[in-house]
Amino acid sequence: MKSEADPELIVYFGGQYVPQHEARVGILTHALHYGTGVFEGIRAHWDEAQQELFLMRPLDHYARWKKNCGILRIRVPLSPQELGAITVELLRRNHIRSNAYVRPLAYKCAERVGVSTDDKDAFAIVAVPFGDYLASDRGLHAGVSSWRRIEDNAIPARAKICGAYVNSALAGDEARESGFDEAILLNESGHVAEGATCNIFMARKGELITPPVTENVLEGITRESVMELARRELGRPVVERPIDRSELYMCEELFFTGTAVGIAPIVRVDHRPVGNGAVGAVTNALRGLYFDATRGHLKSYRNWLLPVYGVKRDAEHATAPLMEVTA
Ligand code: PMP
Repeated sequence: MKSEADPELIVYFGGQYVPQHEARVGILTHALHYGTGVFEGIRAHWDEAQQELFLMRPLDHYARWKKNCGILRIRVPLSPQELGAITVELLRRNHIRSNAYVRPLAYKCAERVGVSTDDKDAFAIVAVPFGDYLASDRGLHAGVSSWRRIEDNAIPARAKICGAYVNSALAGDEARESGFDEAILLNESGHVAEGATCNIFMARKGELITPPVTENVLEGITRESVMELARRELGRPVVERPIDRSELYMCEELFFTGTAVGIAPIVRVDHRPVGNGAVGAVTNALRGLYFDATRGHLKSYRNWLLPVYGVKRDAEHATAPLMEVTA
């Protein structure tokens, strides 16, 4: 099986499919020094019974990527549909038949000293087999970080800007060194923002709650998907409102959401049990629904998925490559 270190991994770089060892950037590359890149993360889930790999909302991810690139004025000269087609080809060329992670990266590529930007942009797409990001089945122990979430007027947290992930790396590192599985960051108002690499949801007094996108959080696609599943399948519209730190200690359920983590239950926060300390019923229900939706088991969510191999593609799914951007 291929891994990130496998020299035979094929990546999309410089407009071509090339072996990973040929995809190299120079030491003076602007983005390497100043963090002037924008990345994306897309999941593909393997379904053994159908012998199919399903990309999860690739066009929505590529639409977000292009919008985020606009913040840094990085141009990606292809449409979400064209980028989706490259991704399918990449997964096929690498013969990936397991859960996978796709990492598009667009960046300022000029090789010179000086922080001001120019119009030299490049992008690459890498796809790797990828299992669970956090070992979350039995629930995570999260710790509130001493680092604050970055402010929109400093570096917008709503976009996956490379340099912004120093904030996540500092918080994640601190959390793990302190014995937690993951960090929870507060924003400068003292409200709960999100995890280092994931959004957060809380069940409290019968409501399902998540911070609004104006609280310095990434505008997560999993967050959106979970909100849709909660509303349509559980009849629980998610309330978007600020969350205080102390509510984390008083709520019934807590979970993270993200492309890499999926839906990850949090059963302890800052050494205090969440609810009764076990994974809660709403979290479990959403996890089940998300699993089924992402593996093509739920007909009403097939429009989220792009099948990579199309082995058993019937008339209904044959049009998948032409799927519409839904967000
Ligand atoms: N917040 C942060 C800081 C993230 O890096 C991610 C991962 N992209 C998320 C939230 C979750 O976003 P998504 O569901 O789109 O992966």
